Amino acid sequence: MSSRNDEWLARSRQAVWHPCTQMKRHESLPIVPVSRGEGVWLEDFEGHRFLDGVSSWWVNLFGHANPRINAALVDQLGKLEHVILAGFTQQPVVELSEKLARLTGLGHAFYGSDGASATEIALKMSYHYWRNRGQDHKTGFVSLQNSYHGETLGALSVTDVPLFSATYAPLLRATHRVMSPDWRLADAGESAEAYALRAADDLERLFQRQAGELAALIVEPLCQGAAGMAMYHPAYLRRARALCDEYGVHLIADEIAMGFGRTGTMFACEQASIRADFICLSKGITGGYLPLSAVLTTDEVYAAFYDDDVTRGFLHSHSYTGNALACRAALEVLAIFADDDVLVQNRQTAAAVATDFARLAAHPDVRHPRQLGMIWAYEVANAEPGFAGRWFSTALARGLLLRPVGNTVYLMPPYVITPAQLRQAFAVMQDLLDQGLR
Ligand SMILES: *Cc1c(COP(=O)(O)O)cnc(C)c1O
Repeated sequence: MSSRNDEWLARSRQAVWHPCTQMKRHESLPIVPVSRGEGVWLEDFEGHRFLDGVSSWWVNLFGHANPRINAALVDQLGKLEHVILAGFTQQPVVELSEKLARLTGLGHAFYGSDGASATEIALKMSYHYWRNRGQDHKTGFVSLQNSYHGETLGALSVTDVPLFSATYAPLLRATHRVMSPDWRLADAGESAEAYALRAADDLERLFQRQAGELAALIVEPLCQGAAGMAMYHPAYLRRARALCDEYGVHLIADEIAMGFGRTGTMFACEQASIRADFICLSKGITGGYLPLSAVLTTDEVYAAFYDDDVTRGFLHSHSYTGNALACRAALEVLAIFADDDVLVQNRQTAAAVATDFARLAAHPDVRHPRQLGMIWAYEVANAEPGFAGRWFSTALARGLLLRPVGNTVYLMPPYVITPAQLRQAFAVMQDLLDQGLR
């Protein structure tokens, strides 16, 4: 007897090559067919609901089938879905660029489609800036240990996740890695701030040796998501900004995952009171509706490209650059932030569940419990091989979508989650801990 779920997962296995997946694994671990979504909930074809604890890979902000974003898109569909952005413009892309400039303090927005394309744009723009300024020897890039900036070849070169990059090493460009400020790596008795500053010393040593050949340092501000929600003290960003200024190296803030309120401020860099030379945005920018990314930069960088010479311009493009529907979704996301006082509401939500998280964190097998904005994370001690898959399957059967990274369990829900729903999610986690699932 074939259920409706079974039918879709069989057809999907046959026809779809799923991302970031050894497909053979799906012989034993079933793909989850999703028929619909509403708010924090996803539902399969047999009516089972589960709470989207990972915001559908960190993109969803205001829930699935959000009525406001839906309405904005329906309205936009009646006007213009898309037009070439080279030589043409449209209302949503102009308004979005103006609003993002106001929010970031960076006045020029260049668009791509995915996060990885934003990383590529920032790297190419940084190098090209130095070249246009007569410093074409500045070709090097620096990233942090355990960094993640996407998986196209240029982005993968500045990504330090061997599982994703080792296979392709012969295709990648050598880049410099410096110590991660991740406070889990601090010595016993060393504060997060002291450790962050020690990590910054490592960056300074590299700059002392080779800043003349370096174009940019790229960082995920405050939290390295793919490293397992590795959080760090803002002192690192302040020091990195000062070192980049001192040694003439660009600072690229990859806010693809952490931007749009995830860390508690609109952009994570705000917590260090710094402005990067480039900021990469994607994921939450459309509320999880449509692929869109943007790189914003300074007037100074923009001016270095502004010339009679065509080749001094930034000759980079993607077919869907500045897609009108995606920009309209992004405008509605920004309108929701303003109308609903989202950052304040998120702070209240996090405060309301603080004692509940503290109770979970007190479990003897929980390590490094941490919370930043709308992210809750911890490691589970004594995890055995296959831990992440077991937690995924067991939590899903209990109505909670979790995707642990190794032995790191995290919750990164849509902002529309209520304190009661968060407590429910913590309760499922508590049960898995208590029943000894390792
Ligand atoms: C997800 C992510 C990317 C890549 O974005 P894609 O849309 O998956 O290409 C880049 N940087 C960070 C920090 C990310 O979390």
